[in-house]
Amino acid sequence: LTGRMMDFPLTVTHLLERVRTFFPGVQVVSRRGDRSLERRTYKDIYTRGVRLAAALAKLGVGPGDRVATLCWNHGEHLEAYLAVPAMGAVLHTLNLRLAPSEIGYIANHAKDRVLLVDKSLLPLYAKFRADVPSLEHVFVLDGKEEGLGHYESLIANSDPSGFTFPKLDENTAAMLCYTSGTTGKAKGVLYSHRSTVLHALVACMRDNLGIGEDDVVLPVVPMFHAAAWGLPYEAAATGAKLVFPGPHLDPESILDLIERERVTFAGGVPTIWIGILDRLDRERGRWDLSSLRRMIVGGAAAPPAMIDGFAKRHGIEVIHAWGMTEMNPLGTLARVKAGMGTISEQRHLAYRSSQGYPVVFVEQRHVSDDGAVLPWDNASMGELEVRGPWVASTYFGDEGADRFTNDGWFKTGDVVTICPEGYVRICDRSKDVIKSGGEWISSVALESALMAHPAVLEAAVFAATHPKWSERPVAAVVFREGMRASEDELATHLAATFPKYWLPDAYVVLPQIPRTSTGKFLKTKLRDDFGSILEK
Ligand code: ADP
Repeated sequence: LTGRMMDFPLTVTHLLERVRTFFPGVQVVSRRGDRSLERRTYKDIYTRGVRLAAALAKLGVGPGDRVATLCWNHGEHLEAYLAVPAMGAVLHTLNLRLAPSEIGYIANHAKDRVLLVDKSLLPLYAKFRADVPSLEHVFVLDGKEEGLGHYESLIANSDPSGFTFPKLDENTAAMLCYTSGTTGKAKGVLYSHRSTVLHALVACMRDNLGIGEDDVVLPVVPMFHAAAWGLPYEAAATGAKLVFPGPHLDPESILDLIERERVTFAGGVPTIWIGILDRLDRERGRWDLSSLRRMIVGGAAAPPAMIDGFAKRHGIEVIHAWGMTEMNPLGTLARVKAGMGTISEQRHLAYRSSQGYPVVFVEQRHVSDDGAVLPWDNASMGELEVRGPWVASTYFGDEGADRFTNDGWFKTGDVVTICPEGYVRICDRSKDVIKSGGEWISSVALESALMAHPAVLEAAVFAATHPKWSERPVAAVVFREGMRASEDELATHLAATFPKYWLPDAYVVLPQIPRTSTGKFLKTKLRDDFGSILEK
């Protein structure tokens, strides 16, 4: 017997129509390149979005065509986020921190027809232009450039009369995001309207990100990375005010935006929050952050000392979440279940700094090398696999077929343990696991512990090749300004928690840990630079 309810499609178009109808006056604030703040409203976003869609349609952009962006986070990027999918085309966000040859490879792989590019990024565009023969139209934002289209003129000269958004099937492609290739060649993930909308609704739930109409949302996470964790769609679904940082992602600019715009919710990768916490500790009382209710951190393991530091020293709740480009991207989130009763402060922090348990509709299991499903005993280590309505079923293209199992799971490449309550703990990416004499050593656990040392600002632990043990851990550390600790002190600090054979064989002191294009610690670079320091 079939239920008798309407088959009403879940589309981004609905979100766009909704902000116009119910939240026309809500602000969308963008920090421009010159640091000034530009204020628009959802009504403006709608009006300009319709004009954008009408103009693109007139240029011949049709269903499924890829419209790329090479942009920082700002209001125009939001227009594209909403209007391009609504017209039945596909928004393809290019990662501006990748090498030009990689961007060229990705844009060509995607067969992008149109590009919207920030004026400040034109030098980057020039470096990959020749690699993308499919590009027919380029429009420059925030300025003009001889020989290229001008975005504001495109919007101003567009004639939206007679243009209407098409009725879309909810499985229509909405957005194309490539993995940033931290572990191999970039692969495309093609989100659907349905996956995008369902993901946004679930992300907004109180137990998850908990975003509502009265929030002021600051996506520090770039819109060119995993749809900025869906934050633009989550804000649109609820009618929350949006604040975009533009290209200014340094701690001072972010703190200034939070204070000035009374931000209640911000999201970004750990390296961003580590820098901000350090700044807050050094300049106590300088910023009024009383509006801030919650910060979400994800994309890489959040050090427990950071989560604890924000809570204890600044009264700010940091929520740790895990996700992947392949998952729209939210997968798990670390909240302590009320049902667990009263637990010690230490265990509380341990749960909050784990990767958490899956959000509703995401299912998980972990398997051994030979494919056996492992028990949730807090000890068995295996590769995490997931499935759900916003998990990729294949990549866009032929690559990576081996990441999908025959029985319908996606292999994440993360090595984890799972506890009986379902909390996942990531020990490593499979490529970063340190295999010392047949034993596995978790680099994530070691670096979290190092970052709890008062003198350490950042730490990344990686595998160096070793003549006897095949691999041994080496730690790269960055000290806080004016502070220092000897290798012996660091080793003694770690020895309190870990068996002796886990302790790093060497320490390298750096001014900064190298970063990936999305701000994570770049271990391949550390391995390239220091991977052979133990070979004598
Ligand atoms: P990439 O890092 O390849 O650019 P993604 O941003 O999709 O692409 O990264 C997903 C990966 O990031 C996960 O597989 C996992 O290794 C790591 N990751 C994401 N969130 C967390 C987290 N909270 N803790 C530890 N690792 C995380």
